[in-house]
Amino acid sequence: MRGFVFLSVFLVAVYSQKLFIGDQVLRIKAENAEQISILQSLETQEHLQLDFWLHPANPELPVDIRVPFSNVQAVKVLLESNNIQYSVLIDDVQAVLDEEQQELEVNQGRERITKSFNFAAYHKLETIYEWMDTLVAQYPNLVSKVNIGSTYEGRPMYVLKFSTGGNNRPAIWIDTGIHSREWVTQATGVWTANKIATEYGSDSSITTLLNSMDVFLLILANPDGYAFTHSNDRMWRKTRSKTSGSCIGVDPNRNWDAGFSGPGASNYPCSDSYHGPFAESEVEVKNIVNFIKQHGQIKSFISVHSYSQLLMVPYGYTCNKPADYQELENVGKSAASALKSLYGTSYQVGNICDIIYPASGGSIDWSYNYGIKYSFAFELRDTGRYGFILPANQIIPTAQETWLALMHIMQYVQAHPY
Ligand SMILES: [Zn+2]
Repeated sequence: MRGFVFLSVFLVAVYSQKLFIGDQVLRIKAENAEQISILQSLETQEHLQLDFWLHPANPELPVDIRVPFSNVQAVKVLLESNNIQYSVLIDDVQAVLDEEQQELEVNQGRERITKSFNFAAYHKLETIYEWMDTLVAQYPNLVSKVNIGSTYEGRPMYVLKFSTGGNNRPAIWIDTGIHSREWVTQATGVWTANKIATEYGSDSSITTLLNSMDVFLLILANPDGYAFTHSNDRMWRKTRSKTSGSCIGVDPNRNWDAGFSGPGASNYPCSDSYHGPFAESEVEVKNIVNFIKQHGQIKSFISVHSYSQLLMVPYGYTCNKPADYQELENVGKSAASALKSLYGTSYQVGNICDIIYPASGGSIDWSYNYGIKYSFAFELRDTGRYGFILPANQIIPTAQETWLALMHIMQYVQAHPY
């Protein structure tokens, strides 16, 4: 009986969701600029309904595309006729999502019975918000919850503040999940919050840091999008605002006031990288900007994405390097080697424009130009085997290794006041 009830709940939950049966993720290796431009032209062919997981930019990097089942053959023929090499990364996207969803539901049931929180599982927004309350209740002298404003759909945006006192101390900002489908990032945010709270006082690096600085952690930077990835469309990346026409949402990492609407951002509202009608049009972005400006003492701004295993510094809107580039690259390289020391995970380090592609209106370009020198963006695991659908058993190792890089950056910032 229990099995039957579980199965029905599972089917109902899945039924309201967009399905990806037979969709494939293709990894394409372009060999030259000509092949890149063929791939770029695919981005404008709406009828193909392609979902670019990694955009074509330079022949050094692979291009990953989720292709709807109905167009898989056509796209393969097109690639083959242009002599463009590809392989199939994910053979049936829905099969991978079913596994993920089933695991999530099983864990949810288990947590309800054991009244515990499993850091090695993905969670819905409500569960994460409830867990935050538990953390704040458990560590009232260290952790508090700051509501920085509401989302387009009216959800609160909660920042966890870790502070041992003082009046507006210099602080570190970390956000995860601004792109809602990058689930390992929100899960890493949760693990990180727990790590800081539980190990303050016993871990000397955390203790030393928090004795003179505060840490602000926004785990759900795009709450509406995150809720939507659970309820309707696991592949949703944008906000949920209505701008113009029938397409919904703005890419919240193309919406910042830094090179707004420049290269690497789309002015087409249906695009996954739509920059929005104007800079900071998205209330989620505006809330963060207001908070950072009001605080006035943020010394490092770290934004966490997935996937590709990159640690990036400004800029994305131009390939011109910022004044502090050499220092930032050095810090990034040491952080990446700390990260690698745990499980051997390799990261590339560099400025956004050179190591991935031009991308305008991004958060760390804004924070850097605003005066926050130590601005970094992570792209967490993996390099494409699972992409955005990273299995939950990789959450803890991902969070653990990322922590080493974060700690390296935070300690560096503490040692280099400005
Ligand atoms: Zn992202």
